[in-house]
Amino acid sequence: MDIQQIRNDFPILGQKIYGHPLVYLDNAATTQKPQCVLDSIMKFYTLYNSNIHRGVHYLSEKATEIYENARLKVKEFINAKSRTEIVFTKGSTEAINTLASSFSQRFINPGDELIISEMEHHSDIVPWQLNAQNKGAVIKVLPFDDRGELLIDKLENLITNKTKIICVTYASNTLGTVNDVEKIIKIAHSHNIPVLVDAAQAIQHLKIDVQKLDCDFLALSGHKIYAETGIGILYGKEKYLEELPPYQGGGDMIKNVSFAKTTYAELPLKFEAGTSNFVGAGSLHTALDYVDKLGLENIAAHEAELLKYATQKVEALGGITIYGKADNKVSVLSFNIDGAHHYDTGMILDKLGIAVRTGTHCTEPIMQHFGITGTVRASFALYNTFEEVDALVDGIKRAQKMLVG
Ligand code: PMP
Repeated sequence: MDIQQIRNDFPILGQKIYGHPLVYLDNAATTQKPQCVLDSIMKFYTLYNSNIHRGVHYLSEKATEIYENARLKVKEFINAKSRTEIVFTKGSTEAINTLASSFSQRFINPGDELIISEMEHHSDIVPWQLNAQNKGAVIKVLPFDDRGELLIDKLENLITNKTKIICVTYASNTLGTVNDVEKIIKIAHSHNIPVLVDAAQAIQHLKIDVQKLDCDFLALSGHKIYAETGIGILYGKEKYLEELPPYQGGGDMIKNVSFAKTTYAELPLKFEAGTSNFVGAGSLHTALDYVDKLGLENIAAHEAELLKYATQKVEALGGITIYGKADNKVSVLSFNIDGAHHYDTGMILDKLGIAVRTGTHCTEPIMQHFGITGTVRASFALYNTFEEVDALVDGIKRAQKMLVG
């Protein structure tokens, strides 16, 4: 891949921040958008804007075609069996809330159990807690070790005949760990338990094949893979989506409505109440085409090199603790300068034009595991360079000198 050429596709990267070239290393929070995605949004509003599924007029048909073609693109991208298994949502959070609410309503009873990994993002914990509380169900936690690897061997012991679902992230946004979700799914299925995979941090780095994984549900966010924000996906096996009740009611999700009785639309529209983010869906299509053109495996190889280089250089500085040392990681590097607050490090880096994330990264249980209040997180994407890693390392050195002497 020609990284300089790729960088030209992302107009935001050309900026200077406080007089320094922008070094954007907050990609796990959100990715920047290539010109083709920006153009697709502009083109939609300039030429096709109209509400979907409702009109017989040209623009509405065109908008519907763009929306439904985006669904087909996602279906191909994750190799789902059918377009009916692809539900558009606002993002991973809404996908998981949809599932948690609907699944709990249908399948969870008082005393039932859910298993959630210790490294989940809050969006894969809190929706389940809200619904478990309502139903009087119990949440059990699958722990990870100090390297940041899930203790999958403990899963069998956590499973009982009351376990209704297992929820696990494919890749951790804080530790970078890529979990062996295939193994978890195999164990779960040997007990007839469905699995939700949170793919918010995996979709942009790893080739996902939902049929090969055999996951029952999967959540992802468009903005993490170079598309607009406000669009995401809930994938679900058809046999489950057919059985689950709708999450929200409104337009587009019904077949017939009367005060006596309402019937629901066929899949996937049963789960898409109201006016969807059809512009976002179009942008997701463009973003996935962009990723396909470059090749996810080429992107992943470049990111792996960046992570390796950054990890070695940061470790060589001394006086730094790295959180997340799993063998298999996506390009996320979480660390603290020993004796310094993550927030102060982030502030100093910011003044050098380097954008990193500081804090808990919406994973407070991970912070509790390590007994810390937060980390600095640098996360790399396809457009980052080795020179940017050097700038990060120089910035950390400077912060170290200023904060701990
Ligand atoms: N899960 C993981 C692992 C994440 O990293 C994120 C976003 N940080 C989410 C879920 C939630 O994604 P969104 O905010 O796009 O809904």
